[in-house]
Amino acid sequence: MFPAQFTYERARSEDEALAALAKYGSDARILAGGQSLIPAMRYRLARPGVLIDINPITAFEYIEERDGYLSVGATARDYAIEMSSPIRSRYQLLAATSKVIADPVVRQTGTLAGSLCHNDPAGDWPVAALAARAQIVVRGVRGTRLVSADDFLVDSFTTAVGDDEMAVEVRFPKPPPLTYGAYHKIERKVGDFATACAGVQLTFDTGGRVAAAGIAIGAVGAKALRVADGEMMMTGYVPTEELIGEVVEVAKRVADPVADNRGSVQYKREMAGVLVGRALRDACRLSGLKGEGASW
Ligand SMILES: Cc1cc2nc3c(=O)[nH]c(=O)nc-3n(C[C@H](O)[C@H](O)[C@H](O)COP(=O)(O)OP(=O)(O)OC[C@H]3O[C@@H](n4cnc5c(N)ncnc54)[C@H](O)[C@@H]3O)c2cc1C
Repeated sequence: MFPAQFTYERARSEDEALAALAKYGSDARILAGGQSLIPAMRYRLARPGVLIDINPITAFEYIEERDGYLSVGATARDYAIEMSSPIRSRYQLLAATSKVIADPVVRQTGTLAGSLCHNDPAGDWPVAALAARAQIVVRGVRGTRLVSADDFLVDSFTTAVGDDEMAVEVRFPKPPPLTYGAYHKIERKVGDFATACAGVQLTFDTGGRVAAAGIAIGAVGAKALRVADGEMMMTGYVPTEELIGEVVEVAKRVADPVADNRGSVQYKREMAGVLVGRALRDACRLSGLKGEGASW
């Protein structure tokens, strides 16, 4: 099907994009990679009157470490994240996530910021953003706001971005030494959205105790879900097989999936737990630490 009629605005700078958003408000949508928006328009699930194309803004393409953060600009592609040296060497959770989003063709154009703004309940980046404590820089002509991933990801396909605002950057705190991460996803076939997914980031102290934990699950709720009780249970303790088993049970209780052609409620809930367990064991294995009863 063809999209409904719309006006196309080509933004060549951030100021032009913000001015267009201020002018058209709720009738306008930002076009980033177009990997979610264009299909939605073709199915007439989205009918924006105006598309504001931010792809010409090359100043948004950056991926760089500064001021204690990894900063990813609004048009940095998933593929660039996958190939980024700092991410490959220091941001294991992000590196693992970037490899399993869709397929290489989609990753050539899709963006991290676009995925967070789309906030698909089965999206991979929202899960990683929660676990890695991302912050999103939201800007409009009235000013700039820094929003945590928890507050940004409001509900299915709903975010904290106002009609006259856009996400200009996603920031991840630079992981302290002894930080390890992993991402696991079950999909029906390569390139599919997740049936269930889980992202984990653990920072250890020199005694092998968990100093900070980030655990999130996806495709098992209206939006990506933080396993906050599991994070608290791990913090301050040396991970053991028993502790991981308890966190797995917590993740299963947090999961609130719906049945569809990817699986039943019971299956998805079980898988959310299994994937959290796998990701936690991966992070522990990468750390080189062995806890009691460790199977990693
Ligand atoms: C075949 C296929 C398979 C896929 N599989 C997966 C998968 O396995 N996992 C997964 O996570 N995703 C998957 N996707 C989605 C893909 O990752 C998208 O790229 C992503 O969800 C949206 O990013 P985008 O840059 O394409 O955004 P767009 O499609 O351009 O935009 C998406 C929405 O976000 C808004 N938006 C975009 N950027 C901004 C911004 N900077 N500020 C404010 N609003 C903005 C748009 O207005 C629109 O409403 C798949 C897509 C396809 C086509």
